[in-house]
Amino acid sequence: MLTVRDLLMHLPFGWDQYGEPTAVSQLIDGKQATVVGTIASIAAKRSMRKKLQLTEATLKDDAGGVLRLVWFHQPYLVNQLHQGDRIAVAGMVKGRYGVHEMSNPLQEKIDGGGPKRIRDLMPRYHLVQGLSSKKVAAWIDSVIGLAGELEDVLSDDVRERHHLLPVAEAVRMGHQPDNQLEWKMARHRMAFAELFELQATFALMRAGLAAEPAEPIPYRQEVIEAFKTGLGFELTKAQRRSTWEAFKDMDRHEPMNRLLNGDVGSGKTAVAAACAAMAHAAGFQTVVMAPTEILARQHLHKFRAYLEDSFPGLAVELLVSGQSAAERRRVKSAAASGQCALVVGTHALIEEDVELANLGLAIVDEQHRFGTRQRELLRQKGRGRPHFMAMTATPIPRTLALALYGEMSVSVIDELPPGRSPVQTEVVAPDGRRRAYELVREQVRLGRQAFVICPLIEESEVLVARSATAEFERLKADVFPDLQVGLVHGRLKNKDEVMSAFVKGDIQVLVATAVVEVGVDVPNATVMMIEGAERFGLAQLHQFRGRVGRGAGQSHCLLLSDDPSEPTLERLSLLTRIRDGFRLAEEDMRIRGMGELMGPRQHGMSDVAMQALEQPELLSDVREEAERVLESDPGFANHPVLKAAVANRLDQTSIS
Ligand code: ADP
Ligand code: MG
Repeated sequence: MLTVRDLLMHLPFGWDQYGEPTAVSQLIDGKQATVVGTIASIAAKRSMRKKLQLTEATLKDDAGGVLRLVWFHQPYLVNQLHQGDRIAVAGMVKGRYGVHEMSNPLQEKIDGGGPKRIRDLMPRYHLVQGLSSKKVAAWIDSVIGLAGELEDVLSDDVRERHHLLPVAEAVRMGHQPDNQLEWKMARHRMAFAELFELQATFALMRAGLAAEPAEPIPYRQEVIEAFKTGLGFELTKAQRRSTWEAFKDMDRHEPMNRLLNGDVGSGKTAVAAACAAMAHAAGFQTVVMAPTEILARQHLHKFRAYLEDSFPGLAVELLVSGQSAAERRRVKSAAASGQCALVVGTHALIEEDVELANLGLAIVDEQHRFGTRQRELLRQKGRGRPHFMAMTATPIPRTLALALYGEMSVSVIDELPPGRSPVQTEVVAPDGRRRAYELVREQVRLGRQAFVICPLIEESEVLVARSATAEFERLKADVFPDLQVGLVHGRLKNKDEVMSAFVKGDIQVLVATAVVEVGVDVPNATVMMIEGAERFGLAQLHQFRGRVGRGAGQSHCLLLSDDPSEPTLERLSLLTRIRDGFRLAEEDMRIRGMGELMGPRQHGMSDVAMQALEQPELLSDVREEAERVLESDPGFANHPVLKAAVANRLDQTSIS
């Protein structure tokens, strides 16, 4: 439910510039303009045929020019605007030769002086379905008088220390500023307050975790030695550092809560396996939850390969819904008896009847694919609180990681294992498409496989599925009639089967949507072709690219773009030069802004707050203040507004 408070706190994300008032005689057809004048007539009408409610008016400017105005579906206007009122209107001009008209203009009564809002700025709000910015602005107008009633989440001393506006002023200036500076100050204050709430929430979560102790998993040198011996390769420096950070966390009563952030192929699984080995040596079980069955199966194989030789007693088992009932029963009983040390699986792991005798460590792969609630359910499989590790392959710059996952410590694997041959990356303009298909064909002839990623469509999953299906049909019928072409998208029931067929090599060209993360290892795939590449963020493109280049052969990443404009090509060409996911994420942030990085609306933070993160010092200021409050007032008892805001946030995360 949207409250008045929500409405007021939801600042516009930008402004339309209408400019100074123009005389009617100077209006230009098809251009935005602002006109000031007096209402000569106004009346509500109903068009018989279409049942449209119209409000028609004529406006006379000071030079005698006449502008016709029409509003649709706003019959109430006749009660607000009257003949003889002086108003300003802003909108698109239609018509020429002295007969000008505006449809649905923004309007504002002017008492005395010039128009306030319309003069140069009109707010643009993010549109909730069917709501225009104008409608939102009108609502704001009707409730903005209540801004004075809003309670401030920031105390006086915090505001003074950081030169921040009180909430009431910020709301007024944020929605109806007199100038740019006011708007900026308002945004800054709102961003600060939002981040403050978030960080206070994280601080509370951390404190809560500390109060619910875990069993320490003591560090043992001989375990890591044995692990390394059985591994078959040398851990990279970044893997060693991350492993060490996790070991230190696990050896404490405070449960570990760590995010392992490393590029695709950086070897996160080995770090997780080392932790599982340490847990096992201390007599604890580990669970690893992955978002898809096929990923879970791949984990199973990797964990077995990493651990089997050196730890013969360490049984690794799989639990997914695709197994036979008998097999599931067997694994569940092994887990419940403690016989099995490591259980890898999907959502099946968090079902009620899954019990673990002695869970000490819970690991979630691709953690953004799970809600907080699912992660929490996994943790609850322990008797006490297990240590927790989340893995993600989305490279997130440090500031953003702190802002989004402030309750976790972060380990970064910023180094790929040696010996990978870099993926040859190329931006392909529309006329190069044939050549791109040739390359796919050539690779398939060599026994390799290819991915084709369909463009990003935000509107709906149905549309995404439809466009992927169309692309699949086209490729199968016209381009590669002689090859085995497969399709996978989010609405398909047999996703896992299709992916398995691709892993096995039964499918040569796999058409996939971005929605289906192809987070599986297919070392034989050597071509990643991405349609509509300009619609993706660099970090995301980089993730796709990480799906190839895992085997011995030279791999290719082809970025097809329908928009051959200079900025697009320039942005995409960064991928041809930069191979480090973190650097690409930072570049992307610089070019497209912080908000785009995480994909649309995934992050639960307003754009105002997202954008504010670009100021280097802000977040550390905010964190410091949040810690300070928690320290002086652990339950936020003396900060009722903050307490309510935090409770609200905790509520939201627990149902996601
Ligand atoms: P991700 O971080 O994407 O989960 P994985 O853990 O699946 O990466 O590792 C990718 C591949 O790299 C695996 O085949 C793994 O065995 C291999 N690998 C991991 N670490 C190393 C290393 N230090 N040296 C060589 N190969 C490694
Ligand atoms: Mg992985």
